[in-house]
Amino acid sequence: MKTTIALALTPAAMAGFLEGLGEPPYRADQVLDWLYRKQAYNFSDMTNLPQGLREKLQKEAKTGFLELVKQQVSDDGTIKLLFALGDGESVETVALPYRTGHSVCVSTQVGCKMGCLFCASGMPGFVRNLTAAEIMAQVLQVKKLLAAEGHALKSMVLMGTGEPLDNWAALLPFLNAVHDPARLGMSLRHVTISTSGVAPRILDLAKLGWPLTLSVSLHAPNDKLRGKIMPVNRKYPLSVLLPACWEFAEITGRRVTFEYLLIDSLNDGENQARELSGLLRGMQCHVNLIPLNAVPELPFTPSKDAAVLRFQEILRQNKINVTVRRKLGADIAAACGQLRNTFRGSEQDGCRRDKRQGKSQGKK
Ligand code: SF4
Repeated sequence: MKTTIALALTPAAMAGFLEGLGEPPYRADQVLDWLYRKQAYNFSDMTNLPQGLREKLQKEAKTGFLELVKQQVSDDGTIKLLFALGDGESVETVALPYRTGHSVCVSTQVGCKMGCLFCASGMPGFVRNLTAAEIMAQVLQVKKLLAAEGHALKSMVLMGTGEPLDNWAALLPFLNAVHDPARLGMSLRHVTISTSGVAPRILDLAKLGWPLTLSVSLHAPNDKLRGKIMPVNRKYPLSVLLPACWEFAEITGRRVTFEYLLIDSLNDGENQARELSGLLRGMQCHVNLIPLNAVPELPFTPSKDAAVLRFQEILRQNKINVTVRRKLGADIAAACGQLRNTFRGSEQDGCRRDKRQGKSQGKK
């Protein structure tokens, strides 16, 4: 029989589950309160429940919280957590100390199918989707850790390992739990979904009309270069991706953020800044320039400071809203594109990487 995971249940499903154990429906509110407000990792900690119910719950269900395997703290206050999943896989989650408050960056898949060339997270290839409960557990466990240090969790970004829009089946129930007042109760205005550019799902997301922030990893101003460094562009080129982004902005009234990694001598030239300005002219958007975070195994180096400033200046001259993202967590490999799952050791990572290389060679 499949074990019930409490974090996977909606309030109605929780009430139904408890009813099946012979309990009144109001117990559902109590259990949800322990899970989402107090982050009780074990049913035995839910002290206002009768002892008999706590025992029944321990026998019939799991809370769904994850085992913390490793915690690293950066000089700038960024915290990187490595969690073990029930099947022996692992994921990384990051707590980011922004000036406007703390944010959590969650992973949505173990590995990633997208194969962006500059990214460590996708290097081992795709293993599996995370469940909505596994994504929520990352958020709640970071929330608890921050609370212990006197900080509140203000926002979240789905920007860790994985492509969130490639895990639609978990994304929707997760987002429902995020803005449900009986569960996490966080406004979707504080949620950013990052995508490599899965255009049809951007349209699906737009149709929901939720006030989320959409963050699109652009990283190149034309199809030729983007297709080289981001295989997803071969399926959804800029002529498909950008109209989907415009539609998102129009339906939701939220401006779209475009992430642009600056890689030395690859995409950081003055002509490329002009080309990018032309591409985004007239669109309600914001460009976030991110000096690359180096990954030792990958053949890319960060742009020089002068190139970053010049790129930014050209976008500004062309009236594009632009900022340069502050680097956080680079000393503990918690920065953008540096996350990976290190729990099961390099032997297995190497094996997955070989598999992916084998696949891509086959495609050529
Ligand atoms: S950048 Fe994002 S979408 Fe691309 S491989 Fe890395 S995790 Fe996947």
